[in-house]
Amino acid sequence: MNEKKKILIVEDESNIAQLLAVNLMLAGYDYEIASDGEEGLEKALTGTFDLILLDLMLPKMNGFEVCARVRKKLSTPIIMVTAREEEKDKILGLDTGADDYVTKPFSLNELLSRIKANIRRNANELINPEKEGSGEEKIIKIRGLNIDTEKYDVSLDGEQISLSRQEYDLILFLAQNLGKPYTREQLMESVWGYEGYLGDIRAVDVTVSRLRAKIEKDPSNPEYLLTKRGIGYYLK
Ligand code: CA
Repeated sequence: MNEKKKILIVEDESNIAQLLAVNLMLAGYDYEIASDGEEGLEKALTGTFDLILLDLMLPKMNGFEVCARVRKKLSTPIIMVTAREEEKDKILGLDTGADDYVTKPFSLNELLSRIKANIRRNANELINPEKEGSGEEKIIKIRGLNIDTEKYDVSLDGEQISLSRQEYDLILFLAQNLGKPYTREQLMESVWGYEGYLGDIRAVDVTVSRLRAKIEKDPSNPEYLLTKRGIGYYLK
């Protein structure tokens, strides 16, 4: 049998932490709870977790800071939990290093499916670099854009570009399917790993605009990452 996946819950409201703990346990996960930002950081860095559920508003150290500090050392998937839609809109515009965002009050089913998808995506990434001789191109070249799938490097006209994981995953997926437009829902499924995704699709738009800002000479008039009107996005 597989070992149980372990999740770190960083949440200062004990009723929410308990609710999460019970439901994670019922879904077959192990968990630990940290009730403020400092404890969360300490546990994240000293323990072994498959995923971190990180509340944004926390005593002692807020979720942004915890996230940034964890990211410097670890690639553990982080789902950031925010109290309101406006907060979520705000942080979607920032490069926080979190892999996903959930707004309170959240549906437990949606949260559990996101936890599963993020853990699976992370596991795939750990396996894929060892995949050899699969016949896939290791370096994808599209005019001045270079994607080195072995080194996870992306460069434009010879200059290296720093991308977040979502940005990298998205551009790689579109590059491997050059010219084919995908809807936001399809991208949430294929790139973010959500099955039968029905929820929030703004993460796609935000990631596209971040990518455009990094790879396009004129982001408002893109040459690579294009919008297919009425459908979604494709790479040209
Ligand atoms: Ca809180």
